[in-house]
Amino acid sequence: MQIYLDNASTTKVCPEAAASALSAMTECFGNPSSDHSIGRAAERIIKDARGHIAKALDCKSSQLYFTSCGTESDNWAIINGARYNSRAGHHIISSAAEHDAVLRSLDVLKNEGYEISLLTPKSDGSIDPGEVALNLREDTCLVTLMTVNNETGAITGIEQISKLLKAKGSKALFHTDAVQAFMKVPFSAAKCGADMVSVSGHKIHAPKGIGALYIKAGLNLPQFLVGGKQESGKRAGTENVPHIAAFGEAARIAVEDFDDNFAHMKGLSDYTRQKLSELGIQTIGAGSPHIISLSMPGYKSQVIMNALDAQGICVSRSSACKKGGRSHVLEAIGLKPNVIDGALRLGISRFTAKEDIDIFLQAIAKAQLLRHR
Ligand code: PLP
Repeated sequence: MQIYLDNASTTKVCPEAAASALSAMTECFGNPSSDHSIGRAAERIIKDARGHIAKALDCKSSQLYFTSCGTESDNWAIINGARYNSRAGHHIISSAAEHDAVLRSLDVLKNEGYEISLLTPKSDGSIDPGEVALNLREDTCLVTLMTVNNETGAITGIEQISKLLKAKGSKALFHTDAVQAFMKVPFSAAKCGADMVSVSGHKIHAPKGIGALYIKAGLNLPQFLVGGKQESGKRAGTENVPHIAAFGEAARIAVEDFDDNFAHMKGLSDYTRQKLSELGIQTIGAGSPHIISLSMPGYKSQVIMNALDAQGICVSRSSACKKGGRSHVLEAIGLKPNVIDGALRLGISRFTAKEDIDIFLQAIAKAQLLRHR
């Protein structure tokens, strides 16, 4: 038996996405830049996939650039965005609850002399737009804030923040890391008002190693990878056609079934939270239906994870890429050390069944009993 409840770390590739990747690898294997039939077939795959992802993000195909992952999208938007807009100033607003892909990009800029204001998240992990207003300066060149927090699921009001930036006449570029929002909660690149939006394939049942960056029309963001003329000259390197095909297919299906998937995940999330509360287990934050952060103070996350793993149940302690390190998000929220050390993160997907949750709940209840004996 295997119960996978770590869908915020990554998701299983759906059969349709896997089939489209296989076909792109074995049939339409040409170089999309080659001017012959197999090359043109590969180019068509990219065009179709871009269309599906653009529809999912609610933007134009021409505003979407493929990258190798969400991390590359964040690096590109933040590092090149700040440098490009440095005539506006050298001040950046972000938050202490961002993913490492954002925080480490900010380190690069800090070393170049940029001043970073890292906002403290609210108790659920989201950012108060009022904090952005308080920290905004004449010389702010970039604001980068995630839409859905990858550890607590909290949702930040991106549209509200972009309206605020406009109302204040700010020259800052606005980027949002929407890796955990894309196809999990209603999200529109066009409506959210951000200049740049990062997304990643492997969170929506496409393979790992494919991402995209939305760049608002009119923003001439300098390219990050230099070389050939791929991606309208914005991102060099022969395109990863199989992964792009799979990403497009995963997005197409996710759009078709969005309402049903959302309702399914929300139902499971509400049920889990209710049952955890009946067991006296606290949850941290809320928002997106696919993430549930919980804590059992006095227990060690790794010990509970190992016990669950031994029963075939996969969960995580915080962001998987921390590789066991302490959660900076839960620290930024200001939780007590024993709450942080006993934290677990559940990630739900459209493939999660109620029985999976029930088995997890039984295992957690058993772990609690053992402790109190
Ligand atoms: N941003 C957030 C919020 C994430 O959760 C992740 C992955 O966990 C990333 C960025 C990085 O995406 P990728 O794994 O595609 O590099």
